Amino acid sequence: MAEISDKIKRTANAVKKIRPAYSKILDFYEKIFSAQEKSAAKTEIKPAQIADNIVSIKAKEKFPLISISEFLVDVNASRKLFKKLCKIINKSENHMSSAAEAVFIANENKQIDFNELYAALLHDNDAYFVNIASEIKADKDVLAFVTYNSIRPSLSMFAESASKYLDKDNPWGKGYCPVCGNTPVISTFESDGKRFLTCSFCWHKWPSARLFCPFCENRDAGTLHYLFSEDEQEYRIDICDRCNKYIKNVDTRILSRFVYLPLEQIATLHLDIMAKEKGYESGVPLEFQV
Ligand SMILES: [Zn+2]
Ligand SMILES: [Zn+2]
Repeated sequence: MAEISDKIKRTANAVKKIRPAYSKILDFYEKIFSAQEKSAAKTEIKPAQIADNIVSIKAKEKFPLISISEFLVDVNASRKLFKKLCKIINKSENHMSSAAEAVFIANENKQIDFNELYAALLHDNDAYFVNIASEIKADKDVLAFVTYNSIRPSLSMFAESASKYLDKDNPWGKGYCPVCGNTPVISTFESDGKRFLTCSFCWHKWPSARLFCPFCENRDAGTLHYLFSEDEQEYRIDICDRCNKYIKNVDTRILSRFVYLPLEQIATLHLDIMAKEKGYESGVPLEFQV
């Protein structure tokens, strides 16, 4: 997996050259993503097993294949990544650094029960995060950031195993992820101009109609439009006047460099600012900004 870390680094360098304002934030995320990819190579997950009758009911009713609480996590690989992420954040000297140090120390002192912590995240148990954050005197959002990012390799791997049960012959046609039901974080145009949406939680990518708002399922050409800049033809912001939300789109056909979507999401924060200035809302909560 050293190879993918190198590709991420090259992509980050290419973006930094064009937009130097992103240097600090990309230096930071490049380390996070590389650590995740290295951890992914060592992550082992039992593949999802879904009974045929459940698969057909879910496909018919357009229910996602699995709920978030059903995701399996490689706790051992994730806790190692957790420690590594704390170190990266602490060294990066941003607004999360001191909280990351507190989390790191709590981990060294064995104050964190990883089975409980990951179960809390997968059951959306906010109270658990409030309690443990106050116990270890760390910021709750930073703890949640490290926790989610430490299980991201497991989530992607488990989602991929579940995605084998999806009906490839019939378009999903929904704005939420067919695997886990979450909203998309980014949209892409790929070969032949086909559009895909990528899940903000499990990072599964699924095909989508081009003229379609994933947040309210609007398909009316009159109320769907986009913003784009001549200087950055690889990006655009797809906007829906019906629900007032937007999603960023990367035209991967235009980019000759390696496209790593979590990095594209970070490298396009100026588009979020532009969309917000025009009064539109992001369809998903924005990533932590450094
Ligand atoms: Zn998903
Ligand atoms: Zn909409």
